[in-house]
Amino acid sequence: MRVLKKDYWKRFPQWADVSKWDWEDWKWQIRNRIRSLSQLEEILGIDLSHLKKVEKVFRTGTTPYYLSLVKDLSDLNNPILKQILPSCKEIDPQIQAEGSFDPFKEEVMSPVKGLTHRYPDRVLFRVTTFCSVYCRHCMRKRIFLEEERANRYEEYIRMIEYIRNNPIIKEVLISGGDPLTLPNRKLEFILEHLSRIEHVKIIRIGTRELVVNPYRFFDDGLLELLDRCDKLWIVTHFNHPDEVTDVVKKAVRNILSTGTPVLNQTVLLKGINDDPYIIEDLMRNLLQVKIKPYYLFYCDPTKGVMHFRTDIKRGIEILEHLRGKVSGMGIPVYAVDLPGGLGKVPLTPDYVLEETKEYLLLKSPEGKTVKINRLNFDIIDNHTKEQEDLCL
Ligand SMILES: *Cc1c(COP(=O)(O)O)cnc(C)c1O
Repeated sequence: MRVLKKDYWKRFPQWADVSKWDWEDWKWQIRNRIRSLSQLEEILGIDLSHLKKVEKVFRTGTTPYYLSLVKDLSDLNNPILKQILPSCKEIDPQIQAEGSFDPFKEEVMSPVKGLTHRYPDRVLFRVTTFCSVYCRHCMRKRIFLEEERANRYEEYIRMIEYIRNNPIIKEVLISGGDPLTLPNRKLEFILEHLSRIEHVKIIRIGTRELVVNPYRFFDDGLLELLDRCDKLWIVTHFNHPDEVTDVVKKAVRNILSTGTPVLNQTVLLKGINDDPYIIEDLMRNLLQVKIKPYYLFYCDPTKGVMHFRTDIKRGIEILEHLRGKVSGMGIPVYAVDLPGGLGKVPLTPDYVLEETKEYLLLKSPEGKTVKINRLNFDIIDNHTKEQEDLCL
């Protein structure tokens, strides 16, 4: 976990005079967000004019806090910077050719505007197109092309009506944009109405504010809301160990104190975290601040994001690396979202190498093979000794 030194943001000339009180105010972070390449140029002190054509298609945005996590501003390969700095690859027709703006048919499987009903028991409930940070690898990159706006109350009411009329729905996933960029009173409206629906048992908020603006969770009004709504879970989106800071730890403590569990979804991103040791560190850091790793996603085939994709097998290799090394609690499910809205499928390393009616040939976490009798679970054949001898 990264310990951020007192007033660490003052190393940026732009924020040298910012008080702790302003810096730690989530609204200050959003008000003072960086929303153009020219602002980024000023802060990084480098020429980004070749990226201006990207900005015309996909907007730029980051909070000062998230940018301040970059250790060395001259290192354009920094994993934080890579998630917020546009790249010409985003609009390269060849690289993006196979991508789609809506690979999962979220807009097609939508009975009411803003709502996606793909699985029988769960609906996706999109509340805004606004984010305080625009992740370059966003799976919903089509919203970058729309104006930034929170939905109107009438739109929420229509979505809530649909859920109320469909008792098959047991869970609502609130997403966006980032739902926690909404003011508390709008969130209260949504949460109160959803909570009152008897058949809705779980309300999940998907947010990246914990990563990019953890001060959101120092807001007493929000904490009181979380405390009041006992159906709530929070799912967040950390991709790199450098994102897990002592500020995040305090924010998670605040969330947990309201009885709300915190889970994480990581996306496997080429050049950012497609490395078993980086994911190992990330999973350890998450557990240390009491966030449970939930999914590791294969990067979706979204137009504008194709250059972040790895080979699909990379995630399986990473899971193989984690098993046996990291606490079982720190091992996420590696999943790929099937195109066409067919749903998420878990991919796992194969631990059963062979099976007959009599025996199973299994692979241990260290890669040793063990043949066990199916009926009495006796070890028939253990290759350990041989393999050890071979190693010598
Ligand atoms: C991912 C997703 C869900 C939730 O899936 P879980 O496996 O429960 O996390 C629900 N609806 C849609 C449309 C989704 O894309």
